[in-house]
Amino acid sequence: MNTKLFPEIVLNWIDGAEKGASDGALFNNLSPATGKLLCQAVGSRKSDVEKAVASARKAFPAWSGMTPVQRGDILMAIAQRMRANAETMAAIVAAETGMAPSAALGETGGAIAQAEFMAGEGRRLYGRTTTSAVPDKYAMTVRHPLGVAGLIIAANTPIANVAWKVFPALICGNTAVLKAAEDTPATAWFFGQLARDAGLPPGVLNIIQGMGEEAGAPLVAHPDIAVVSFTGSTEVGRMIAETAGRRLAKVSLELGGKNPLVVCDDADLENAAKWVLLSAFSNAGQRCAAGSRIIIFDAVYDQFRDMLLEKTQQLKVGPTDMDDLGPVINETQLINMVAAVETARQEGAQILVGGSRMTDPEHADGFYMAPTLIENADPRAGISTREVFGPITCLYRVKDFQEALRMANDSPYGLTACIHSRNIHRVMEFTQKVQAGVAVANAGTYGSEPHMPFGGVKQSGNGSREPGTEALDIYSNLKDIYICVEPDLI
Ligand code: NAD
Repeated sequence: MNTKLFPEIVLNWIDGAEKGASDGALFNNLSPATGKLLCQAVGSRKSDVEKAVASARKAFPAWSGMTPVQRGDILMAIAQRMRANAETMAAIVAAETGMAPSAALGETGGAIAQAEFMAGEGRRLYGRTTTSAVPDKYAMTVRHPLGVAGLIIAANTPIANVAWKVFPALICGNTAVLKAAEDTPATAWFFGQLARDAGLPPGVLNIIQGMGEEAGAPLVAHPDIAVVSFTGSTEVGRMIAETAGRRLAKVSLELGGKNPLVVCDDADLENAAKWVLLSAFSNAGQRCAAGSRIIIFDAVYDQFRDMLLEKTQQLKVGPTDMDDLGPVINETQLINMVAAVETARQEGAQILVGGSRMTDPEHADGFYMAPTLIENADPRAGISTREVFGPITCLYRVKDFQEALRMANDSPYGLTACIHSRNIHRVMEFTQKVQAGVAVANAGTYGSEPHMPFGGVKQSGNGSREPGTEALDIYSNLKDIYICVEPDLI
């Protein structure tokens, strides 16, 4: 147990103070790297959620009444605390996820960049001034907060996920209740502590720990939650949209992906192989933007497969900076991954490498999935169409560009996509025609930046975009203002 980084029992943050669950419920948080207990966290229930929402409601008038610049100054103070405490933050992220310390520090840096960017929006938060058809009439728009935001996140990049939601929600003048991911409670708890120390007024951000159905669902259903912003699976996202839709609450959904990476016959194969490995296996494949469908031109298929196979066999798996990928987040996910690969095998796919839990002494206690390459899977099979969210990727052979594009688009998801080609015409055609929220040439399926809008089409989301300035559209209402001048009174 790591008592130096976080407490043995991680509590909720409600109204600026740490609180246990009303009924004293706790759940265990295990280290994915060792399987050992890291800490326990509060298993919040509906009554705890109600207290958090009441606290956020109470804080709303004062917070929304501040100028955006004043809010931005406080958010910038949080960003500065995050920077000053980046090593500790990253150590907590690494402990909870099993990712390497350097990767956790990189993720923390991304979260800080997001914090700084959004804090700066306090000095912008632009509306529009525009023309009117009518003489002596002036038209403009302004932004208003919605009220209390309900924020629900996944554990895969825990501090980035916190930052992507909290900063845009608060800069717009909303107060918030964040439901932390159950696999990374201490990361959210530590953020709450930094926010309090930086001077965020009590109740502006409340953080509740707990399970999805017990703590997340009552938050979504709460009548005082004006906007629900959710990052997680498509399955849960659909339920959230249904619940929130009944009372017409605003919803932002950042959901799963089954992201294609196309390797053309004119690609720089070394560069493509590097990016396939990073897209498929970095963060143990636990990225919504992971590359899980590698679509390769027939002319280079055999050569490229052999390159990938050799490189995958050389990957080091473990929780240190010497390793290429770490464990997956929990044992249930690991079991599901192994089962998905087994089903694929039974349906005729070939497992080129990996495909199972790592059970050697170094890995047996943790939740390690061997990096897995699969070929000859039917493009309509479950392994080709359902997100697995682990270090598993499938290779597909296509004869030409048109078949590659068709296959890339033949998916229920549409989050990110990538093409490797030196041909500008192929790159342009692919990035224009691929059905995805993000299209990349000659790099990975992931790597979106904090000032750019991210989100998907089809079942990868509901059309909203986070972060970038586009996130402000989720967390604010626009109001049109018309001012009519009476010339006689001038
Ligand atoms: P999940 O949907 O099971 O859980 C996500 C969050 O929702 C957790 O905090 C969980 O407690 C909560 N939750 C679960 N059931 C709930 C319910 N009934 N009501 C309210 N909240 C509930 O997802 P996961 O397996 O933890 O995370 C992986 C998923 O997240 C993948 O599908 C991945 O693609 C997606 N993801 C998407 C993005 C993006 O930006 N598009 C980013 C990261 C992860």
